[in-house]
Amino acid sequence: METSTITTFPTPTSTEATPVAALGAAARRKWVYEFAEGNGRDKMLLGGKGANLCEMTKIGLNVPPGFVITTEACLAFLDSEQRQLPDGVMDEVRHYMASLEQKTGQKFGGADDPLLVSVRSGSAMSMPGMMDTILNLGLNETTLAALIRHTGNERFGYDAYRRFIQLFGKVALGVPDALFDEQFDAVKTKAGVKVDVGLSPDDLRDIGKRFLAVVQAHTRRAFPDDPYEQLEIAIKAVFNSWMGKRAIDYRREFGITPAMANGTAVNVVAMVFGNMGNDSATGVGFTRNPATGENLIYGEYLVNAQGEDVVAGIRTPKPIQEMEREMPMMYRQLIDLRSKLERHYREVQDFEFTIERGTLYCLQTRNGKMNAASMVRTSVEMHDEGLLKREEAITRVNPAHLEQMLFPRLDPQHKSQPLAVGLPASPGAASGQAVFDADRAEALGKKGVKVILVREETKPEDIHGFFAAQGILTSRGGKTSHAAVVARGMGKPCVAGAEGIHVDVQMRVAFVGDQVIKEGDVVTIDGSNGHVFRGEVPTVEADFSPSLVRLLEWADQHARMGVRANADTPEDAERAVRYGARGIGLCRTERMFNAPDRLPIVIDMIVANTADERREVIDRLLPIQRADFIGMFRAMAPHPVTIRLLDPPIHEFLPTERQLEEDIARLHDLRRTARGIEVLVESARTVADARATAAIAELADTRAIDAIITRKEAVLRKACALREVNPMLGHRGVRLGITYPEIYTMQVRAVLEAAADCVRAGVEVHPEIMVPQVCTAQELKLVRGYLAAVQSQVELMYGVQVPCRFGTMVEVVRACMRAENLAEVAEFFSFGTNDLTQATFSFSREDAENKFLPMYNERGILQDNPFEVLDVKGVGRLMSLAVEWGRKSRPDLKVGICGEHGGHPSSIRFCDSIGLDYVSCSAPRVPIARLAAAHATIQGSQGVDRSA
Ligand code: ADP
Ligand code: MG
Ligand code: MG
Repeated sequence: METSTITTFPTPTSTEATPVAALGAAARRKWVYEFAEGNGRDKMLLGGKGANLCEMTKIGLNVPPGFVITTEACLAFLDSEQRQLPDGVMDEVRHYMASLEQKTGQKFGGADDPLLVSVRSGSAMSMPGMMDTILNLGLNETTLAALIRHTGNERFGYDAYRRFIQLFGKVALGVPDALFDEQFDAVKTKAGVKVDVGLSPDDLRDIGKRFLAVVQAHTRRAFPDDPYEQLEIAIKAVFNSWMGKRAIDYRREFGITPAMANGTAVNVVAMVFGNMGNDSATGVGFTRNPATGENLIYGEYLVNAQGEDVVAGIRTPKPIQEMEREMPMMYRQLIDLRSKLERHYREVQDFEFTIERGTLYCLQTRNGKMNAASMVRTSVEMHDEGLLKREEAITRVNPAHLEQMLFPRLDPQHKSQPLAVGLPASPGAASGQAVFDADRAEALGKKGVKVILVREETKPEDIHGFFAAQGILTSRGGKTSHAAVVARGMGKPCVAGAEGIHVDVQMRVAFVGDQVIKEGDVVTIDGSNGHVFRGEVPTVEADFSPSLVRLLEWADQHARMGVRANADTPEDAERAVRYGARGIGLCRTERMFNAPDRLPIVIDMIVANTADERREVIDRLLPIQRADFIGMFRAMAPHPVTIRLLDPPIHEFLPTERQLEEDIARLHDLRRTARGIEVLVESARTVADARATAAIAELADTRAIDAIITRKEAVLRKACALREVNPMLGHRGVRLGITYPEIYTMQVRAVLEAAADCVRAGVEVHPEIMVPQVCTAQELKLVRGYLAAVQSQVELMYGVQVPCRFGTMVEVVRACMRAENLAEVAEFFSFGTNDLTQATFSFSREDAENKFLPMYNERGILQDNPFEVLDVKGVGRLMSLAVEWGRKSRPDLKVGICGEHGGHPSSIRFCDSIGLDYVSCSAPRVPIARLAAAHATIQGSQGVDRSA
């Protein structure tokens, strides 16, 4: 219930931001938790590092004692007017320091065996290197002397001190590192040594003195001596680092919101020393190799060093495997730590350790970041080792990340700088010779030359160039431009809208700044990030590892929905099978019409003046289409193949009017020239060799030219007659099929004859005929009439029964509203969410993408691009109504989706939640969809985001 009077309720700020004052002393908030007391799951409160230190302490790992000051303390501190620690924080800190003293038997600031601590940052999200840590805090003249006396190790004492002064100076007092480095180098030069281990205790003492002087000179104050003053300053400095520029930039860059991480905690940890001699060391490890996933401890260590030395690169660390030889006892302990961590967290861990005089301490652990390939491998292997259940192994891998493995990508080792950057329009990387038109691409492609088709933008008539090219690069257009959509459909890399590139098709060159790319120059594109390079950058192939194959098999066993592919040719279908598609959800027959050897026949069909003429041409198309379908059925057997009858307006198959007019003008020129030659030949006959003049005469065949002109003029007339104001809403799809029944009838016949052919050959087939753009049941009934007539003829002719399902695309809003009626005729629905999204928003896709969608996204009017991420609230609502109503009249109605959304993980999850039977997407996305479908079944609707 909503309230109309805000005065009766506290405003949100009064409940959130001033808890201490509001609650009073009795219920004062607890700011500090000892490791043994903190809740290991509460990363928001304790930060990731703190929560895991608590957790590790609880499960009995050897963690030095310590405590966490909460992120709430940090926020209260940052909110306070003069950045004051909230009341009570330092009291609690003193209390827990006393407890630390008790546990270690040492005394903070003590003159005998002094306690030193580290003061470490750590928020809920890991932000490596963004915030600060101070080591060896608690040192001053007195405690230093005590430390040296107690350890009997002068060198160690002075080393610890100079580190502390530098870290504290830098982090807490803002003294630039360079000032310290200057002094450090001066002493090294004086001593004649290159690395710090070569420094003598006296050198190190000298460095400490110089550092104190640096601080004094820079801050105009003495270095603070009192350990508690040091501690308080350090805590504040760590809290402040949350609002440091580095940290703010990092959060912006990686999209870390306050809901994900709000403030940093401070961890105060008793120091342990890896720099106490050759029985001491420090290092970092991964429980498994994060680059490959291999089940082997992986990492680096340094003997006689302190934590930050490993990352700082002062000395080159050794691979952890070497420890087995160098410190066998410690290595065994490390392996034991590794397996305890994995068994507890059931996840690959990235951890820090320190060995102090033969005792191993764990100082930090967190989930290891891995690439997709190692995520997949570790999932499968951790399942086999009994660490993960099947469901866990499946859900551990983010479907979207599989993209990394499934498309060729640039060798991660490459160092090339991109020449230009465009939009990442279709994932994958490819190299080849730049070619500026589709014909040339095709000609070279046929010779086996690798080419990249470079265009200002592409048109449907460039399609043969797409087939021949390794990838497509355009200087104009967005992620839904023709180039992008077609490339994604084919699974070819595409960089679109690389505006820094100026393409001059006539000159066959492209200009990028002051550089020129000539035809034949090799370029490399990376469609995953939009980068364009000159020359060949090595690529690594899609990675269908045995682990991935197994993981996807498990996914198939768990997923309720099936996954099909959109595939238009037998080759596409074969590829889809390799990616694990179980059926074809969309075969667009127009792609078959567009092939270069067929287009002339299709044009004849369109130009035909009478139905008889048209039928005659269509008879030539029939065997070609039949052969296509036989290829598709055989490739996909025994799974279903859904064939969509012709959808686009037919004038799309004709050249443009401008093109035709130019051609005709040029032909007229040619004719005039030919005429001149005719005259020339006549005159020449009187003086020249007869054979020579005959050859020239042949060139000047005006009759042949006239014939071409006549035909072009006929095509032009037709193109004018077919011109539409709004072709996408015009004479297309089923409207066309009803106007020209002979076209659909031919297609239906080709499907059925192909199926009959397969049945006779013992191949299991399940053809499904699908009608596009339907908005009323009446349209469907008419087309079903064609099917009924042809089916009985074909069955009679072939002497076999031909199974065939009949269904409809649902891509028109009215079709959703009339789903109940449509389902009386249709046996299945397939949501064409590309068109349905356009229709629901009344956005034309190309215009939306190129003109206003980016602005809408930026201003938060729309969260996502609805052409990429299914608009669950609008389009999704229509879909769920259509499913519900359709199944009213036909409970076993099969429903799928074949828009581009069918390959998008969150859209797939939504499809599952409204009861779809399958999703269909382009072949390379099939594995992503298989995994996403399994996630949907396992996780149910818990993750469905309806707030688009
Ligand atoms: P970061 O978040 O940058 O990793 P850490 O707080 O983990 O910073 O500390 C930096 C380095 O200091 C790490 O190598 C860590 O292991 C080491 N370190 C931190 N606390 C201690 C401690 N109490 N004793 C010994 N080494 C420590
Ligand atoms: Mg760390
Ligand atoms: Mg459509």
